[in-house]
Amino acid sequence: LVKVGVLALQGDVREHAAALEASGAQAVTVRRPAELAGVDGLVIPGGESTTIDKLTRIFELDVPLKERIAEGMPVYGSCAGMIMLADEIADPSKDLGGNPQQTLGGLDITVRRNAFGRQRESFETDLRFRGLEFSAAAPGAEAAPVHAVFIRAPWVERVGPSVEVLAKVEPAEASHTQTLHGAARIVAVRSRHLLATSFHPEVTGERRIHELFIRMIRGDA
Ligand code: GLN
Repeated sequence: LVKVGVLALQGDVREHAAALEASGAQAVTVRRPAELAGVDGLVIPGGESTTIDKLTRIFELDVPLKERIAEGMPVYGSCAGMIMLADEIADPSKDLGGNPQQTLGGLDITVRRNAFGRQRESFETDLRFRGLEFSAAAPGAEAAPVHAVFIRAPWVERVGPSVEVLAKVEPAEASHTQTLHGAARIVAVRSRHLLATSFHPEVTGERRIHELFIRMIRGDA
């Protein structure tokens, strides 16, 4: 059984723990460096990236997290978790002292926070998602689409050469918002041991993203 931590500083920790357990992993919460040391992989949940950033530093998890990421520990970041894994934020929030929010980094991407617009803060759509072929009904068939829920979600504005794009929102799928400007927007990426989605598979009963992540931890994907 793989032991997967859920960073439990802020955000939808319980939903990720439940999705991991339903996908065949042991889920544990991580708030201290000693708890981080005992896990095979880590989920950084959705929530508020500025808060998660501050709390990782207060709890002295920032340095150990960066070390484990550099050593190759598999990490899956959802929404705010994607922002935490990004090397660069296009529009970082600043604190009262003018200091921009920080990320752990590791993924060679630039994200834009709240990119789909604030007025209509949340939307849902079905996405084609690469890498879920293991779940297809027949060998060689395409996997069923992923029903994706976006809540004040970021999108990925730039991907480096090491980064594989797994899913995009097409303009026709997001006609409720003007902010796509007619372009497809990247909402799921992978680079070796790091996986990130703009959306929240843990709130819809979708298990395949967590299954993919557990396969990555096992070395099967
Ligand atoms: N907008 C949030 C942030 O910037 C992310 C929202 C989410 O995780 N659902 O951290």
